[in-house]
Amino acid sequence: MTRRLGPGKLVIASHNRGKVIEIANLLGPYGIEPVSAFDLDLPEPDETGTTFVDNADLKARLAADLSGMPAISDDSGLCVEALGGRPGIYSARWAIPNYDNFSVPPEAGAGEVESERDFALAMSRVHDELLAQGPEASRDAHFVCALAVCWPDGHNEWFEGRVDGTLAWPPRGDKGFGYDPMFQPAGYYQTFGEMDPSQKYAISHRADAFRKLVAALLS
Ligand code: IMP
Repeated sequence: MTRRLGPGKLVIASHNRGKVIEIANLLGPYGIEPVSAFDLDLPEPDETGTTFVDNADLKARLAADLSGMPAISDDSGLCVEALGGRPGIYSARWAIPNYDNFSVPPEAGAGEVESERDFALAMSRVHDELLAQGPEASRDAHFVCALAVCWPDGHNEWFEGRVDGTLAWPPRGDKGFGYDPMFQPAGYYQTFGEMDPSQKYAISHRADAFRKLVAALLS
């Protein structure tokens, strides 16, 4: 049975300040008191899962077990249909310079900080792989966001959100982050990189996942 999230402390199992602030803002209106894994000095597990949900669950499970409080985590990425869903769970790794073995974790410290990653490089890698598929290759892609909420007694809840679109080349816009400049959501002329952030947020994979979480656990 679905377990609702009551008011009180919730660990945000991320060391990414941007994510912590975004999740804290979303949960604030529901009486949740966010505490970040960073502030609790909790370690981050290796993301060894094979799906977005697995990786979100790994992070929230470790934070709940170590803190004794419920914890939430997300994992997200870009899936390109013609590339069999890649980069997928390895989306952040494709932005690490001099790193091309995507089946093993990068060396400790390599590209761990989002700002040290090179997303112009990551987007070029996606573009090059698509070119290698030939001129007829589909440019369809989607972003996925998985959310996991884990309680210290072992209970878990998972939610997955998605937004569909096509890949633009060259990349356009400087308003977003990551792969935003090459992602044009279905039904829009602008890429996520050109859109006003509030407009992106209303239709994004993250918003979709959070709407599902709020409907099931909070409203
Ligand atoms: P993680 O969820 O922190 O493992 O990171 C996934 C990677 O996917 C990030 O490094 C982002 O660059 C990329 N990504 C996830 N969501 C978005 C988005 O909304 N726009 C652009 N890139 C994204």
